[in-house]
Amino acid sequence: MLALAEIFYSVQGEGTWSGTPAVFVRLAGCNLNCRFCDTDYSLQSFGSVAGVVARVRELGGDCPMVILTGGEPLAQTESSALIEALRADGRRVHIESNGTVPVELAHDVWLTVSPKERLHPAMAQRANEVKLIVDGRVPEEWLESFAGRSVAVFLQPEGNKPANVQLAVDAAKAQPDRYRLSLQTHKFIGVR
Ligand code: SF4
Repeated sequence: MLALAEIFYSVQGEGTWSGTPAVFVRLAGCNLNCRFCDTDYSLQSFGSVAGVVARVRELGGDCPMVILTGGEPLAQTESSALIEALRADGRRVHIESNGTVPVELAHDVWLTVSPKERLHPAMAQRANEVKLIVDGRVPEEWLESFAGRSVAVFLQPEGNKPANVQLAVDAAKAQPDRYRLSLQTHKFIGVR
């Protein structure tokens, strides 16, 4: 069974796919405990793989994009089965991960890695985009893990706080070929 926090239909607010409608499947629990974490990934229910696919269909209809998030979605043993079932249902699966759990992913799965600690090299190599959380500083030390890759690196100000926004904007302007700004745009318009 999958441990679930919530499933809802909204719009991706961050990164490359910002503005794209998507069904979010938030899996419960995380293997890290970041001090700035503002995500409620507490366990609300258990669900089967088939049950989650059915709920995605019920909420999102033909929406092609499904985002598995958390917590840490890849920390659950059935997450690979869920990914395959969603692909078989015709969905484009996106995963938002802290990159600590090495998992083989199909070529068409989009992987966003937001490193905090214990980043696994295989996941750094597999990432389609990188999201660095700017919280009082730009954690540039993670860039070594993505050296030689041309993935987009987004700077995302923690909590959309003005001081963090300024830091992120300054860093992006200083390295325009390296960084892009990512704001949690869904929060500006009051959607999840
Ligand atoms: S990895 Fe993400 S979800 Fe997990 S504790 Fe850190 S910020 Fe929260």
